[in-house]
Amino acid sequence: MGDQKLPSRAEDFSEWYNQVVLRAELADYAPVRGCMIVRPYGWALWENITAALDRRFKATGHMNAAFPLLIPRSFIDKEQSHVAGFSPELAVVTHGGGEKLEEPLVIRPTSETIVGHAYAKWIQSYRDLPVLINQWNSVVRWELRTKLFLRTLEFFWQEGHTAHATASEAEAETRQMVDVYVDFAMKDAAVPVIPGRKSEAEKFAGADVTYALEAMMGDGKALQFCTSHNLGQNFAKAFEIRYLDKTGQLQHCWTTSWGLSTRVVGAIIMVHGDDQGLILPPKLAPYQAVIVPIFKSDEEKAQVMEAARRIRAELLNAEVRVTMDEREGVSPGFKFNDWEMRGVPLRIELGPKHFAKGSVVLARRDKPGKEGKSFVLQAELAEATKRTLAEVQQALHDRALAFRKANTGEPKDYGEFKQAVETGFALAFWCGSAGCEAKIKEETKATMRCIPLEQSGGSGSCICCGQPAKERAIFAKAY
Ligand SMILES: [Zn+2]
Repeated sequence: MGDQKLPSRAEDFSEWYNQVVLRAELADYAPVRGCMIVRPYGWALWENITAALDRRFKATGHMNAAFPLLIPRSFIDKEQSHVAGFSPELAVVTHGGGEKLEEPLVIRPTSETIVGHAYAKWIQSYRDLPVLINQWNSVVRWELRTKLFLRTLEFFWQEGHTAHATASEAEAETRQMVDVYVDFAMKDAAVPVIPGRKSEAEKFAGADVTYALEAMMGDGKALQFCTSHNLGQNFAKAFEIRYLDKTGQLQHCWTTSWGLSTRVVGAIIMVHGDDQGLILPPKLAPYQAVIVPIFKSDEEKAQVMEAARRIRAELLNAEVRVTMDEREGVSPGFKFNDWEMRGVPLRIELGPKHFAKGSVVLARRDKPGKEGKSFVLQAELAEATKRTLAEVQQALHDRALAFRKANTGEPKDYGEFKQAVETGFALAFWCGSAGCEAKIKEETKATMRCIPLEQSGGSGSCICCGQPAKERAIFAKAY
């Protein structure tokens, strides 16, 4: 491990991605095709993602709960568009306790239906509203073409489910969660995202409106970062989620759902990584810094290790997530490469020469070579580490944003449009018709990613049919 070079991103982005996931020890393949084993380093990253989101969910009034993994098959059939959307992907349990079950059970592809069932019981009056619940779990969708983190048969995520008294409250909740996700993406994942509305063809099965955050990966393709759905009264009607309003009238509730999954790990890899491997944003990195002690003789070792341990304690005390590479029998150079592969944002080199001067070398993962190196006095290390981590965090975001801007075209005609979606995003007027959307997909393999919430205004003509159009949409090839 660590000896062979990775394929470069330019030469084979897909294979580069697979190798980074395996060699950084984020995840591994499982005996059942399409499933993944998330390894401790990958899980630590996911834990930091969940913590950053969970804090925001709770600050906006949500609480966590746990709904069961198994759902009666009949539940899925209750909501028509839902059944059409999910049936082909269902894993069905037909036997239990050695006997054939009277009614088959499905392994949740999402919990909409079972949540609907529970909400119908729990909600009686306007006083019971709103209900604001989230859950962290895993779900199963029988995907045929899989890739670690990006598309797996079982994946980990959070699913929020809320019920409200009015349409406007449900819409406000749906939009609030878009804002929460944008805040997380920009500030913690350092991934610049474009929040927008999905088309009828791309929206969630059973939703009135689906909002999504779209991000550009390092190969110019789009990845849907997460979604927030306004479900209108569709599930409330299918599951009889009703309440008595203030005037004593029985009303159907308005519900929402919103989710973000382990796909986001894939996004972080593809947005920030380079030809040396992973680059993790400091706010989410399992280790923000790694100390590599350098020595030859036993005497040097004693001195260096003592200083290294002291530094480690100081950094832990300053709430920096730091580890120390004490492995014997591997060279410092090997260790440098290994931690570069794993994307640790900062490396702290400490050798006899540094020790004598009371200094260390700080090396930034995002800036290779001399440019990213600085000498820091040991006495000032904690402060310098925190400052540098903040700089790395910002630099990753800014670099990804600059890359997206450089690879987003605003084509004037269909010819330019076709070129733009070969290498990145196309931002173009779209008339809103499903026909144009389908034609574009057929001819270019690019899909309508979203209609950005932020529009520059004005009107134009549809990039496909030339009819009048009021909104610009993002089109791209996507994961
Ligand atoms: Zn059109």
